[in-house]
Amino acid sequence: MLITELKAKETILAGLGEKVFVIFCHGCKEIRFPEKEADALLAELEAAGKVTGSIVTDYICEPANLKLRLERHAAAIDAADTILVASCGVGVQTVASAFENKRVVAACDTYALPGFQGVTPLEHDCRQCGECYLNLTGGICPLTACSKGLVNGQCGGCKDGKCEVDPGMECGWERIQKRLAQIGRLDALKSPIQIRNYATDVNI
Ligand code: SF4
Ligand code: SF4
Repeated sequence: MLITELKAKETILAGLGEKVFVIFCHGCKEIRFPEKEADALLAELEAAGKVTGSIVTDYICEPANLKLRLERHAAAIDAADTILVASCGVGVQTVASAFENKRVVAACDTYALPGFQGVTPLEHDCRQCGECYLNLTGGICPLTACSKGLVNGQCGGCKDGKCEVDPGMECGWERIQKRLAQIGRLDALKSPIQIRNYATDVNI
């Protein structure tokens, strides 16, 4: 089970470009979605003339479903330089994978709660850490893509792009660097992530 909380407005706005397409995922809404706050943020962005389109949908964590839901919004998405996603960390990562050349911004932090979670088949993983880093890592979760869960960059052990802990897997931080280069956000690596707040991660 999980809950999502909207990040601070200033944090979200700082990550946006000029034009934004907005996705709200209500797939797990019965658990917790910050609907009022998200609607207020959308209204503010619309009033500022930043929004090319928006959609309220469900289960964007499932890639085929995401593709289907967004088909009729292709022009609005093309017109945006940023996609703002209010969902759990899996949903944001699925969108980032589907739009590798666009800036994808997570609007929410995801927290774990014990109990059942309505999940769809996942290509991406989220530890529900309560302090989502995807806006600094190009939409790739550093906690699950890196064997050591490092949040401030690569360890010294990567060899030929492979992880020193598991040589069968691509180094997560290599992937993050490639993705940031792809979307023109390598500058994100210049501002190291703060000391991680482990208190928000109930999985530890
Ligand atoms: S950083 Fe990773 S674990 Fe934390 S909320 Fe984001 S996707 Fe989930
Ligand atoms: S090699 Fe890469 S993925 Fe593996 S632990 Fe080091 S930084 Fe993380």
